[in-house]
Amino acid sequence: MQEKKRTALVWIRRDLRLKDHRALSEATINADEVHLLFNFDPLILETLPPNDRRISFIIESLKEMEEQLNKKGSTIWIGHGDPIDEIPKWVKKLNITDLYFNHDYEPYAKKRDSQVQAAVKCEVHHFKDSVIFEGGEILTNKGETYKVFTPYKNSWYERLSQQERELPLYKVKTKSFAQIDSNPHSILNKDWFKKLGFEPTDNILKGGTSAASKRLKKFSEDIMDYEEARDYPSLEKTSNISPYIRHGNISIRDLFRQAFSGTSSGHKVWASELIWREFYQTILDQFPHVDGEAYRPEYEKIKWQGGKKEWEAWKNGQTGFPLIDASMRCLNETGMMHNRLRMVVASFLCKTLLLDWKKGEAYFALKLLDFDLAANNGGWQWSASTGTDAQPYFRIFNPYSQSEKFDKDGAFIKKWCPELSGFSKKLIHNPAKADMIEQSEAGCTIGVDYPYPVVDYKTKRALALEMYKKAKN
Ligand code: FAD
Repeated sequence: MQEKKRTALVWIRRDLRLKDHRALSEATINADEVHLLFNFDPLILETLPPNDRRISFIIESLKEMEEQLNKKGSTIWIGHGDPIDEIPKWVKKLNITDLYFNHDYEPYAKKRDSQVQAAVKCEVHHFKDSVIFEGGEILTNKGETYKVFTPYKNSWYERLSQQERELPLYKVKTKSFAQIDSNPHSILNKDWFKKLGFEPTDNILKGGTSAASKRLKKFSEDIMDYEEARDYPSLEKTSNISPYIRHGNISIRDLFRQAFSGTSSGHKVWASELIWREFYQTILDQFPHVDGEAYRPEYEKIKWQGGKKEWEAWKNGQTGFPLIDASMRCLNETGMMHNRLRMVVASFLCKTLLLDWKKGEAYFALKLLDFDLAANNGGWQWSASTGTDAQPYFRIFNPYSQSEKFDKDGAFIKKWCPELSGFSKKLIHNPAKADMIEQSEAGCTIGVDYPYPVVDYKTKRALALEMYKKAKN
């Protein structure tokens, strides 16, 4: 008897690429004909402002995929609707026998995927793709998830060394792509911004695999210096690859291959950062309550004392603390922020302005081009001392000394707070200390051209310590 023809649908989500793609690779190997689909989910879109940068990034990535698929006589179908209804519709319309997708560890995505799996009338295949090891794979001797990073990392390396193979490269057999002459709803044939109710944005980082590869290539020239240079925002010596990882324009295995291609301290530290990412993916997967609650429940008791004035000042980069303001203006304008600055502004929000870290987490979620629930939540809970392997509550970043240390000459501050450019290297970190003559020489009057500090750092630091101590006991 002749075997039934297998027609696969690969549901593309946060894996916007055609290379080294696990689900796509499996589908093209096992099915006779492979369709690709990306579905815009209104439940996600309705939470975003019309000028959300990620929509442009995604559309750019899809356009590149479509162009590559067109060269192979194929296309990527674009859907728009609740995936629980949409995916089964596409399965029916295209006579699909097998649905393929890669894992996503966010609570909403996990629920969505199991509902879609129950709703479709075809076989379903899903795979680990965006991490080397997912939740449940790296466990303590007691069979528990690690809550501390260093032993997790050691165990991660041990597990990797036990694998016989090198990191797999999931090859895609393009010959299996469904041959399609016309796709009236393709990403190229329709004004998707208009249809979805968004405006195109001009991002500093463009979406797509070729942009991701270029970025990685550029970083390969800097990786040796990474350990020393990574903490200084104005040097721009980190990879800036995070939006590409988030949207899956490049495979995580390609990044680890780069990290393992050398033995310098830069290579090692960069690999360690990629492992931090996996650690947070695992935390979110195994402890989903962190989405919305402190991992350490005692800190849910904190009575945050900051108000609207502090909140507005933080958001708008008008706190009167130059490094904080420069960082927030950079975020608002570009959707990006250097890791050191994310730590400083996050600590400042909860331990100096005494505002709930969850407000800051939500603001970052709205603004970041690389927003990733697991990494963002992990970063915020680390900074707020409420997380798994967080910094102790009594470690509070001093915004002035962080500025003096990591933006010594004030280059980053000058870029984003140009009104402070006339101040000396010494005064630029705390211009409220300048006397009238110094202000006049700098061409900047504090209280007029640039705000006075919205709070007194020392007083608030003492209050923060009290608040945390009280919650802990
Ligand atoms: P590199 O220094 O070149 O590092 C390479 C990659 O390693 C990054 O792209 C990222 O994928 C991963 N990585 C590095 N540091 C971390 C880290 N601390 N935690 C998890 N992964 C890491 N990262 C996001 O990708 N999305 C977020 O939404 C996010 N929110 C954050 C919020 C706060 C409060 C903090 C403190 C950190 C957050 N991070 C987030 C982590 C980190 O700041 C960014 O990954 C990094 O700044 C991206 O720049 P890069 O690609 O140049 O990083």
